Amino acid sequence: MSNSENAKSKSITRFLKSQRNNYSVRDLAKGILKGDNKVLAKAITLVESNLNKHKELATQVIHSVLPYSGKSIRIGITGVPGVGKSTFIESFGKMLTSQGVKTAVLAVDPSSNVTKGSILGDKTRMNQLSVDPLAFVRPSPSSGCLGGIGNATRESILLCEAAGYEVILVETVGVGQSEYLVKEMVDFFLLLMLSGAGDEIQGIKRGIMEMADSLVVNKADGENQILAKKAAQAYRNALHLFPMREDLWSPKSTICSGLNGTGIEDIWKTVQQFKEQQKSNGWFDHRRKTQSRTWLNDLIEAQLGAFFYSKQIVQSNLDQITKQVIDGKKTPYAGSQELMQIFLNSVKSDS
Ligand code: GDP
Repeated sequence: MSNSENAKSKSITRFLKSQRNNYSVRDLAKGILKGDNKVLAKAITLVESNLNKHKELATQVIHSVLPYSGKSIRIGITGVPGVGKSTFIESFGKMLTSQGVKTAVLAVDPSSNVTKGSILGDKTRMNQLSVDPLAFVRPSPSSGCLGGIGNATRESILLCEAAGYEVILVETVGVGQSEYLVKEMVDFFLLLMLSGAGDEIQGIKRGIMEMADSLVVNKADGENQILAKKAAQAYRNALHLFPMREDLWSPKSTICSGLNGTGIEDIWKTVQQFKEQQKSNGWFDHRRKTQSRTWLNDLIEAQLGAFFYSKQIVQSNLDQITKQVIDGKKTPYAGSQELMQIFLNSVKSDS
């Protein structure tokens, strides 16, 4: 554990000690169900913790609020850094809360595991939404958590839903892997684009365009409006070339300005149309069930991996076998088989 992770765990432990008499599982669950944002934030901190005892407490809390979760529409929002995600979410979120719709914002930060840094957490973001009584804004975890960032975000979604949030916005930076992660936990996936920048410049891969339920060319204001309209038309043409989707949804391509609010309400209308169509044709529930299965499989894999590498005997053989594979003395398959055998023998001798 790094120093900062250590400090974080210590501060959570301190918090739990200081709150021991006040915050049982029951009290945390009750606070969440009452819509108390402070309690919700504390529960999410436990979800993100690296310590097993925090995770166990969080699991119990989630278990007790689970029947009250699941009722929101979960929207994933992605796009390259600078496309205007936080400005968009602020504007979209404020539009929703002005209509009385309780809105939560969660972030998935793919930089966390690699650099221990945070792209999303660096700047002060969504200032107005953060203080809106109908909103809850949660910055990304600043380090990997038990079961992975994806798991923490999925559990946080459930907690937010139990706290009565009707729309959950899951933001991620469009830099690769994270889109796939987020697609697996949302109902509707929105890709923000820029006009005047080629797809390669934006780093948008065809696969990511295919995942999107809506492509929105952002910053359609001032002189940029005409360019944005042209880009949206070009994307519309490109979308027509994609095969018909199994869920029968035809992805939309539109324009908006997060800055002045143009097109923001239309995006909400599109989300509502999507929800209505997908509920009536059964795909909404089907997608969620498939996602739950994927989540379970992901967790099993993560736990098996962690168990495998936690074995001292595996660790002490790993370097040598890795070297043999790198030097071409053993195939990766043979190396993995050898390590697996070492692992299995160790499990047998433990039992
Ligand atoms: P993020 O990195 O994707 O979250 O992007 P930000 O929301 O931080 O925006 C990046 C920059 O683009 C900032 O300087 C914003 O003021 C600007 N910006 C964001 N949305 C708009 C928009 O709709 N129109 C214009 N003209 N600028 C915008």
